[in-house]
Amino acid sequence: MGIAVIGGGVAGITAALDLADSGFKVYLIEKNAELGGKMAELAECKTGLSPKIVEIENHPNIELMLSSELESLSGSAGDFKLKVSGKEIEVESVVLAPGYDVFDEIPKSYAITQPDVVTSLEFEGILKAATASETGGLLRPSDGKRVKRIGFIKCVGSRCKENEICSTACCAYTAKEAWAVKERYQDVEVYVFYMDTRVFGKDEELVAELKDKYGVKYIRSRVPEVIPEEGTLTVKFENLENDTVERLDLDMVVLAVGLLPSKTLSKFAEITGVKTDEYGYIETSITNPLETNVRGVFACGTATAPQKVRESVAQASGAALKAALLSERTEPIPGQEDRKYVEVGEERKIGVFICGCEGEVADSVDIPAVVERTKQLKDVVFVNGETSTMKETMEAIESGIVDQGLNRIVFAGYTPREYEGMARDTVAKAGLNPYLLEMVNLREQCAWVHGKRDATEAAAGQIIMAVERARYLEEIPVERYPVIPKALVIGGGI
Ligand SMILES: Cc1cc2nc3c(=O)[nH]c(=O)nc-3n(C[C@H](O)[C@H](O)[C@H](O)COP(=O)(O)OP(=O)(O)OC[C@H]3O[C@@H](n4cnc5c(N)ncnc54)[C@H](O)[C@@H]3O)c2cc1C
Ligand code: SF4
Repeated sequence: MGIAVIGGGVAGITAALDLADSGFKVYLIEKNAELGGKMAELAECKTGLSPKIVEIENHPNIELMLSSELESLSGSAGDFKLKVSGKEIEVESVVLAPGYDVFDEIPKSYAITQPDVVTSLEFEGILKAATASETGGLLRPSDGKRVKRIGFIKCVGSRCKENEICSTACCAYTAKEAWAVKERYQDVEVYVFYMDTRVFGKDEELVAELKDKYGVKYIRSRVPEVIPEEGTLTVKFENLENDTVERLDLDMVVLAVGLLPSKTLSKFAEITGVKTDEYGYIETSITNPLETNVRGVFACGTATAPQKVRESVAQASGAALKAALLSERTEPIPGQEDRKYVEVGEERKIGVFICGCEGEVADSVDIPAVVERTKQLKDVVFVNGETSTMKETMEAIESGIVDQGLNRIVFAGYTPREYEGMARDTVAKAGLNPYLLEMVNLREQCAWVHGKRDATEAAAGQIIMAVERARYLEEIPVERYPVIPKALVIGGGI
């Protein structure tokens, strides 16, 4: 029957992929038109999410239901009936991952209507859109002038009357944002106003580094007010060290807004009978953090409590495992099927596929010029520079192998670190030994690090090298060994 995963943020994506990769039929239900949730809006996180989204879109075991919402749920564990935007589906278990909302009732005293006062989520968008090389600096939204001083105010909408609890993620994400500013724009003075710094492990190291190496000033004070005054934003704060009220003029202020339970959770509770806790999150217990009060319905990610990506992902894999234990595997495990590969003769027929990477490569590299140069290379019989996404490029590679008999592939575009598995699988699905593929990381090694002219030269050069290497690629036999279903667990605590 399958398993329903509700919510297509990083938690839902992880749960869906874990289940689908293990041979379960998965319905992934997302209310928005796109996958990714909040992580897709973050400046430093998008690259980690994109390959997973492409995998979801191409996964044979996943039925992706975008712009869809749960309307009703009946039945019991092992035999649930769901109505999703008018469509009926039957599943054995359900994983809830509807995520969080950000605090949006920002007090007027923070002058939020001023264009240079932004929330941390808006600031992620600013960081994502602008690189230092493009703009020459961090620019103020109001007048495009360079920011010389920026202040981050923490705990906005957390640990307050409206939301009593700590939002867990904002000390760390503020450190990340402050680091991003200092890394890109060294001249900008950065101030962080805080009540506590609740970070651990690597994040703690980052905060120490921000203070010692980057000169970021951490000021212990809960800022009550931001006063807009003739082109500046004045922050008034109590200096706890000498018991005085001080003022600091800034060009831009970022409010580190808290994480709140998603507004959809109360509706979920009504539809599914799942209980929420005193703060409005899905209720789970300390010893069963992934189980809800409804048997067969599991929960993960920020729908259960505010948390960072790493914890959301760990919970998602756990919830997927719990759901799998209640369900029956009905689909093949991708990549496990025996594949026969075409005989590769003496003649080399190299196909080169240059992907624009949704503008990330196409904006810096003159792809048509690189295509023309690549066509001149020995043994290259086909060059495609028309695709923009991973999906389009994989489809082009598949048809290049099937329709044109290509027997060596060069894929130039995204990083092999994230996409190599998918690219090799595409080649194998098309009937070619997966090791007859060579990859070029145009995005990270050309587009992101060079200006337009140099990026084109670098791209052409790297493709020349990859083609030359592809000429010498040989088939490697793929052998499969049965898995022995035994596991070793070390440690017998809770
Ligand atoms: C400004 C900011 C910066 C951050 N930076 C970092 C960082 O650098 N590192 C880090 O680790 N964490 C960071 N975080 C935290 C991070 O965003 C979360 O940990 C992570 O996104 C949680 O993922 P999720 O899948 O649980 O929720 P979400 O990302 O909220 O995804 C939930 C998904 O469910 C969908 N949904 C909701 N209701 C329904 C419904 N009824 N039916 C179907 N679908 C539904 C939503 O549309 C959404 O796509 C940051 C948070 C903020 C606010
Ligand atoms: S994580 Fe830090 S900024 Fe966020 S609420 Fe907790 S103490 Fe405040």
